[in-house]
Amino acid sequence: MAPPKSKKSAAVKKPQSPASSGGRASARRPRKSAPRSLYSPAEVHEIFRRFSVQRPEPKGELDYVNAFTLLVAVVLSAQATDAGVNKATKALFATADTPAKMLALGEAKVGDYIRTIGLWRNKAKNVIALSKALIDDYAGQVPQERDELVELPGVGRKTANVVLNVAFGQHTMAVDTHIFRIGNRIGLAPGKTPEQVEQGLLKVIPAEYMRHAHHWLILHGRYVCKARKPDCWACVIADICKSKEKTTDIPAPLVPIAPLDEALAEVQ
Ligand code: SF4
Repeated sequence: MAPPKSKKSAAVKKPQSPASSGGRASARRPRKSAPRSLYSPAEVHEIFRRFSVQRPEPKGELDYVNAFTLLVAVVLSAQATDAGVNKATKALFATADTPAKMLALGEAKVGDYIRTIGLWRNKAKNVIALSKALIDDYAGQVPQERDELVELPGVGRKTANVVLNVAFGQHTMAVDTHIFRIGNRIGLAPGKTPEQVEQGLLKVIPAEYMRHAHHWLILHGRYVCKARKPDCWACVIADICKSKEKTTDIPAPLVPIAPLDEALAEVQ
């Protein structure tokens, strides 16, 4: 997808609190930094080399047709499954794939399309408000700056990072529940908050792997290093992993995985 040019927002930025702007309050109480990664640069490189062999072109599971519909799909996916969002957006995006068309559709009709998704009333409101903001402040284009994205209704840091990475190829790390768990469980980037894990991962992951690192970690967490009990027998980095929870040191064979096999394995 051709990335549209960013347009500076005319909107007035929210004033920052002293704590967030590095004022005196934060100077007195410096933030504790997160613990360091348990892995050497060579080990991290090897982890992501193996992920890249397994899934050379990893893809997210949300359907979209351009940067705007990706942004809407990610906003709708909060506390909902990707499959559920795709079901609802198929017809919605066929009707409205630009901010202008979405605005013309109106909140009530958007609500009709997304009624099967949790929190749909609030999400319909946000989709209309963010469409209007894109038209008013960015000539209908999705901005390519995180600071601008997070000012849009319904858009948080994670959503902004997904859009910047997937639509615009930026080296961002959107920390979801899977990535937060892996960062801490295996000690790759320990942190008490998603932002600490994000910063830790940005620090240790080699630049050559940053384009896809977010998807690799999500898929690894969804299909192998699962929340309740990791499937270490199926893990290609079991020999490198330093988690106390791991159950084997023998890595699974390093072979490319067909996305369809994975989807089928999940429903079986
Ligand atoms: S060995 Fe087990 S705990 Fe470690 S990354 Fe693999 S699945 Fe997760």
